[in-house]
Amino acid sequence: MALSRRIAYIDLSTGKIETKPIPIEMRRKFLGGRGLDAYLLYNHCEKGIDPFSPENPLIVSAGLLVGTLASATSRTHVMAKSPLTGMLGSCNMGGFFAPELRWAGFDHLVIKGKADKPVYIWIHNGEIEIRDAKNLWGKSVTEAQWAVREELGDPDVKCLVCGPAGEKLVRFANVMTGIKNAGGRTGMGAVMGSKNLKLIAVRGTMDIKIAYPKEALEFNKRFIEQITTAKVNQTMGILGTPFIWGATNSWGGVRVNNFQYNQLLYADDVEPERFHEIANETFGKYHMAGCFACQVHCRARYRIPDGPYKGCYDEGPEYTTQGAFASEVGCTSALTVLTGNYLCNQYGVDWLELGSLIAWAMELYEKGILTIRDTGGIDLRFGNDEAVIEMIKHVCERDTWLGDVLAEGGLKAAEIIGRDSIKYLIHVKGMQNLHSDERPTPALALNIATASRGSDHLRSRPAIDLYHLPEPVLRKIYSNPVPYDGPLSSDFRSYEGKAWQVFWQEQCFMAVDSLGICKYHTTFLGATLPNFEDWTKVIYYNTGLEFTPQELWTIAERCNNMERLFNIREGLTPDDPFKGDILVDRYFTEPTKRGAPDVIGTCIDREKFLKMREEFYRYHGWDEKTGAPTEETLIRLGIDNEPSHLL
Ligand code: SF4
Repeated sequence: MALSRRIAYIDLSTGKIETKPIPIEMRRKFLGGRGLDAYLLYNHCEKGIDPFSPENPLIVSAGLLVGTLASATSRTHVMAKSPLTGMLGSCNMGGFFAPELRWAGFDHLVIKGKADKPVYIWIHNGEIEIRDAKNLWGKSVTEAQWAVREELGDPDVKCLVCGPAGEKLVRFANVMTGIKNAGGRTGMGAVMGSKNLKLIAVRGTMDIKIAYPKEALEFNKRFIEQITTAKVNQTMGILGTPFIWGATNSWGGVRVNNFQYNQLLYADDVEPERFHEIANETFGKYHMAGCFACQVHCRARYRIPDGPYKGCYDEGPEYTTQGAFASEVGCTSALTVLTGNYLCNQYGVDWLELGSLIAWAMELYEKGILTIRDTGGIDLRFGNDEAVIEMIKHVCERDTWLGDVLAEGGLKAAEIIGRDSIKYLIHVKGMQNLHSDERPTPALALNIATASRGSDHLRSRPAIDLYHLPEPVLRKIYSNPVPYDGPLSSDFRSYEGKAWQVFWQEQCFMAVDSLGICKYHTTFLGATLPNFEDWTKVIYYNTGLEFTPQELWTIAERCNNMERLFNIREGLTPDDPFKGDILVDRYFTEPTKRGAPDVIGTCIDREKFLKMREEFYRYHGWDEKTGAPTEETLIRLGIDNEPSHLL
């Protein structure tokens, strides 16, 4: 059965391993993947613990549909208390690890404790072992994976690994699968490092029994049709996600020189077409690759064309890498982006956080808050390509004063640097923003302000808000599967109806994160992609579980509220500048300077923003003053007795 996979509890301090079935009622309430992880975190993580303490549970999972006959079901999810923010830590990545985990017999791993020496976990066809990793410790993300495959004598072993950055407890270190499938944001790789856990290796050949295989395959054809005919996916299959950065920069929606401008000029060398050209030249015409069961293939393969790392193989870059090592740091060189991408993937670190922190340090340097002595002799001005590459290494190695300070993350670094440095930090809940500038787009601003893991575009971003879709089209999307007859606006500068759009996307993204489906196969960048009704059918044909689209929506709401409960327990209040659902002052006080005519001169109107946030809380059934779910909401969602310790 697709639902017969088990949960394993692994204690690295004692070596004890226990496995249990996952009761069907838990599936019906939380599905799997991120949704069930949210339940597990709230139940297994004590309030207020140090994220680097052995008690912090590291939860690894595959979504409910992973490894079945459904498309794009490749996603691995990892959750723990974040060492970066002290709040919800969560990341999600594609590749091939999660299907292999399911074929090896498991859906969820709850890893507690701390090994007294470096170890790795080996999972194969229902068996779990904890093994010595002294030969793996210190190795890069790719070296470690090949070394363990050699040790196990099987080149098809899939790995989830922390790189040297995780070992050195860089607070925004990634977990990685494959070469560049990056579980970025919130430092889950550092939690692995803190447990002396280098890697999880999996290999499985156990069948997943599909409930209605003929119907599942037949219905999947419809999915594939929807996915492959969408223009946005066709573009991604050629240019990868860099096309998003190119399109956003064209109208003035990216952060430049930290937060001083919103459009990168003279950017020809970092446009998506240039990366396409380099991948063509260095890898060949067929350079696009994909994750398990995906028809889009958005990942370019390339070799670094020049410089000290010439010839090194990597995959990407992503739109976020362009932001991190081009626009945010004021650089316009493809070589810097590709080299930065390679180094981050090898160290296993979140390029998005790192690029943002380097950009912040650059602004501090130009303002005289950091001096050349602080930077260890690096001329940290915007546009200095060499300085960017040097800083990536220093942060991941923690081998200079500034590198070590930035490795602590923005809020802790601002405390150490002092001297007004906090004023220039672009973050929400202690996590840096990606490369985007939301001053002209209130919906996107609300999304990053309220996202459960900090400033983030992958929890609730209504990206299609930028397309000026006609109101009837918006209504068709946003009044399903639950009715909505409030205002909607095609104008991305408007505040009308945006709270609902963000609320809707939040449920949409939670549903797919729990099923294990990639967001590029949903209403994220495309307006015509599969939706709640389609997913209920896919769930039924593959697992036999029956839901209505409305029930699926309610499950997503329940899981989002579990995440909310966790953050509230860790101290979230709406206006707290470090833990709240609020933007930094610069969003409200510094108008944009570049971009399209309707973008220049815009910033977020504080009063309208707060009204929009209030509306957003109302849709959730959250108290408008505390931001906490009301008793009525918890009862409606059946989570009024948490933690219930059922799993
Ligand atoms: S669209 Fe890209 S990230 Fe998503 S599953 Fe396909 S290849 Fe992976």
